Amino acid sequence: MSTAPDLVEPRTAPISYETETPVRYEQEGPIAWVIMDRPRYGNAQNSQMTYALDDAFRRAVDDDTVRVIILRGEGKNFSAGHDIGTPGRDVHKSFDRRLLQADHVNKPAAELLYTREQEVYLGMCRRWRDVPKPTIAAVQGACIAGGLMLAWVCDLIVAAEDAFFQDPVGRMGIPGVEYFAHAFELPPRVAKGFLLLGDRMPATRAYDFGMVNRIVAAAALIGETRRIALELAARPRLGNWLIKQAINHVEDLRGKRTAMDAVFHMHHFAHAQNDLTSSHALGGLDAKSMAAANKAQADKL
Ligand code: ZN
Repeated sequence: MSTAPDLVEPRTAPISYETETPVRYEQEGPIAWVIMDRPRYGNAQNSQMTYALDDAFRRAVDDDTVRVIILRGEGKNFSAGHDIGTPGRDVHKSFDRRLLQADHVNKPAAELLYTREQEVYLGMCRRWRDVPKPTIAAVQGACIAGGLMLAWVCDLIVAAEDAFFQDPVGRMGIPGVEYFAHAFELPPRVAKGFLLLGDRMPATRAYDFGMVNRIVAAAALIGETRRIALELAARPRLGNWLIKQAINHVEDLRGKRTAMDAVFHMHHFAHAQNDLTSSHALGGLDAKSMAAANKAQADKL
């Protein structure tokens, strides 16, 4: 165990999970519903949830009767982002790694988060993006920061009218969430406004830039997403895989993967700078202060 000072954040209260099943897996014919199930906390993503998501994607890939995967969130919001302040925040907990990364918990200073985020954010998101079956995100309410990466790894995004997208981590001095697809999901100048101001982008505006495929009434979100999934499920399995691979490949040829690698390192330079200047990788901000700062922000650019 390292004796280096814990610069990520103080280890405070022991982890207290409000559920043992932060992700529900439900099969409906050829559809696997992967449902984030921490509605009390806006489906904030702790490691417990991230590994449960990975288990769910794995199960859906392994099961030949599953042809399409839908990712959705229980409750009012799709995802409030990474867990930065619930009793289930578990940054300092070890999990059985999926990507042959080292354990992060005994690593000193900046190495701790760098190791952890290689696995749970960048690594797992890339893994989910490349699953050989079509994936659809059904997004309602908030889709913030860590929520963006979950929606973005899906092949299609269906949004409810009340959905909004936001990456406010610029307030922490950090250039966007770990999975840096911003400049591929949005035109560059729009992505700059999105990140610099951190405003909420309503679903209609996200649709205008092609970041979402369809907007539906909130009450129709599940039904319409199901309808699209069933249509995909009736198409050739290999064809669906090849189509998504083809587009993913073109995105990578356009630099998505290398850009993401580069910005991941800027992201960790920012975490380290926060550690050095404030002894807190998030610049002293937590769920409460972020929520207060973000409240009532509407899209300006
Ligand atoms: Zn990070």
